[in-house]
Amino acid sequence: MRVLVTGGAGYIGSHTVLALVAAGHDVVVVDDFSNAKKAVVSRLEELAGRQIPVHAFDLTDAARTDELFATEQIDAVIHFAAFKAVGESVQKPAMYYRNNLDTTLSLVEAMQRHGVTRFVFSSSATVYGEHAPVPYQEDWDRLDSSNPYGQTKVMIERILTDVAAVDEAWRVALLRYFNPVGAHPSGRIGEDPTGTPNNLMPYLSQVAVGRREKLTIFGGDYPTADGTGERDYIHVEDLATGHVAALEHLDTMVTRTRAFNLGTGTGTSVLSLLRAFERAVGRELPYEIGPRRPGDLAVTYADPARAHAELGWRATRTIDDMCADTWRWQSQNPQGYPED
Ligand code: UDP
Repeated sequence: MRVLVTGGAGYIGSHTVLALVAAGHDVVVVDDFSNAKKAVVSRLEELAGRQIPVHAFDLTDAARTDELFATEQIDAVIHFAAFKAVGESVQKPAMYYRNNLDTTLSLVEAMQRHGVTRFVFSSSATVYGEHAPVPYQEDWDRLDSSNPYGQTKVMIERILTDVAAVDEAWRVALLRYFNPVGAHPSGRIGEDPTGTPNNLMPYLSQVAVGRREKLTIFGGDYPTADGTGERDYIHVEDLATGHVAALEHLDTMVTRTRAFNLGTGTGTSVLSLLRAFERAVGRELPYEIGPRRPGDLAVTYADPARAHAELGWRATRTIDDMCADTWRWQSQNPQGYPED
């Protein structure tokens, strides 16, 4: 298939571009580079061994989005492009709703005009909200999120469901990610957050490379084995193959819309992840236990059974793989990608 990857220069998008090429698909990228560096593209081309068409514009530009569908023969869309910082979304809710909803609606309307009906959406485990029991299962029907970023995911899942409900040609896979970490094993592409990292793994790797003084663990008094929060960390390479599996499954999907958890099914504590990262780096890393971060849950992890049963996909990489690959990327690129 010829697949449009929105946000294809971003962290998960770039790894998915390579997985699509490896699976024999053609890829077209659209990215506005508001949170990605241009250097990603040359590295993708180097790893893919071919040129990748890249359109640099903002999807809220409906005219250019329409022109893209008019000129490229697109068979399917994988939609990653979005603002994604939870804390920032609390401070700037209107900006998050405006951007994440507008880009998606512009894309959906262009698809409708050009008869493109296959859609894979980058959703998040945050849609399970505060009340769903763990492990999270896809049929939980009280979708909610404690922050505007997560609410945009809940809303977009609903929009796509409604769009598919009135056109029998549409097939939509809603992929609910748990905690993506790791990097391509080459060390050439990886996560390069702008400013201070909000997430644990990039923070930890920046401590290891000397860009941050020490890790602060947000809470040591959770009702878990070691008192620190547990999450379902999933290697970005596994996540990437999950997108390919979902894409290739769309045409055989019985329902028009289907949600899939992409996780491992195992929770790992902050302290366990720190210890695993120390093994990858080969030395101890400085940390302190601080107060809990508001809004954090003690334990979240996936029930990944549906993705295995229906997509034939499961995560195979271990926590040690995730740490080794993150460290290879971070140590080879201590400041992330070069500036444009
Ligand atoms: N965490 C932490 N220190 C940090 C960043 C995160 O202790 O500097 C913890 C956080 O409380 C949670 C886990 O690491 O238990 C994963 O947090 P992250 O922000 O990466 O993902 P999310 O909150 O979305 O699950």
